[in-house]
Amino acid sequence: MLIAMDAQHQLVNAATADRQIEYYCPGCVQPVRLKRGGSDRATFCPRPCHGL
Ligand SMILES: [Zn+2]
Repeated sequence: MLIAMDAQHQLVNAATADRQIEYYCPGCVQPVRLKRGGSDRATFCPRPCHGL
């Protein structure tokens, strides 16, 4: 997923997200973790959810 929600319920793009901050799925409010590995495209774990 490329969009997640922070503790202030702001939607954040993975590309501009901060690794230090906890993010949640906007759909099911499950905690998601920022993943910025070898690829240049940052995403949120675990997997695409709600079409995000
Ligand atoms: Zn979800």
